[in-house]
Amino acid sequence: MESTNTDAPAEPAALPIILLVEDSKTTVAMLSRYLAGHYRLLHAKDGVEAWELLTKHPEIDLVITDINMPRLSGHQLLVKIRKVEDAHLKNTPVIIMTTADDNVDRNLAFLNGANDFIYKPIDEMELQARVNVHYRLARTIRELEANRKLLAEQATTDPLTGLKNRRAFNENGEKHLALARRYNTSLSVILADIDHFKNINDTHGHDAGDEVLVAVARILDGATRAEDSVARIGGEEFALLLPSTNRLGAAVLAESIRAAVEKRKFVLDGRSVTVTVTISIGIASYEAEQTDTIEGLLKIADQRLYLAKKNGRNRICVNNEGKSSFVA
Ligand code: GH3
Ligand code: MG
Ligand code: MG
Ligand code: MG
Repeated sequence: MESTNTDAPAEPAALPIILLVEDSKTTVAMLSRYLAGHYRLLHAKDGVEAWELLTKHPEIDLVITDINMPRLSGHQLLVKIRKVEDAHLKNTPVIIMTTADDNVDRNLAFLNGANDFIYKPIDEMELQARVNVHYRLARTIRELEANRKLLAEQATTDPLTGLKNRRAFNENGEKHLALARRYNTSLSVILADIDHFKNINDTHGHDAGDEVLVAVARILDGATRAEDSVARIGGEEFALLLPSTNRLGAAVLAESIRAAVEKRKFVLDGRSVTVTVTISIGIASYEAEQTDTIEGLLKIADQRLYLAKKNGRNRICVNNEGKSSFVA
């Protein structure tokens, strides 16, 4: 992961934006004074106007709303916000302004998902403190969520090619294997390894090798259907998971991938040279083997990959005799 101390500054450069929803001009003028300098204020006269602004300005950080207003009340606005599909808008912190003796309004606001409330007449220090807390909290939650997403993605993705990594392949594979078992359908695994890849690195350099890996990844990805998954599970080794595909179907796909890679001329970035590579492939199909796990299928496919290498490379192998097709 990138280091955080060289990235964006801790505090965003622009002031946070607050939407103030209030029909009394006096209250608006007062709150503007209290919050000036630390926040930028947008103003709406009622819930309808507020909703329009919220949907138009996703950069709004927090809402402070009155309850009693013409057209759409503070309660109705809050319900609308909490029910919206868009996760960012849905989680906008909302502070409700109410009078101290109005428990009914306060409780309803909480039930509807208000983050906090503040009593009228508004106290300057209290307003600033509450706004500050909820703005910071919402920002922290957003940052944590973005980090969580990034980490989850990093944990399942190969950074060079953008394909799934071995772990994601296995997880996804076990899921599909369970389905194949339950519904008695077929499932195949293809293991492909670039032939003499070391020579590419030795001849053209490691960066060129990386480019070839990315290009081969694209060919594999492009050759598969939406329900299939493609992973880079080793340096120059790729695995394909093919749900609802039997041995014959897998062999046909494997052969077309082998041929596509063989005929492709890889143009290396910024260089006039073109490079060609071939791949060897081993195949294993759930319904034809004595194994119950993805690891088991990969192991069988790996043994056949080894046979394909041994028999001269640039070929596919579908069984333990080293056959490349089911036709005699
Ligand atoms: P074989 O036909 O038997 O598979 O021969 P090979 O040269 O492809 O296999 P070997 O396992 O001997 O070498 C694999 C090479 O792949 C060696 C390693 O440096 C290279 N490699 C592994 N990961 C990467 C990578 O991310 N980028 C590049 N450029 N090369 C890599
Ligand atoms: Mg190898
Ligand atoms: Mg290799
Ligand atoms: Mg290898």
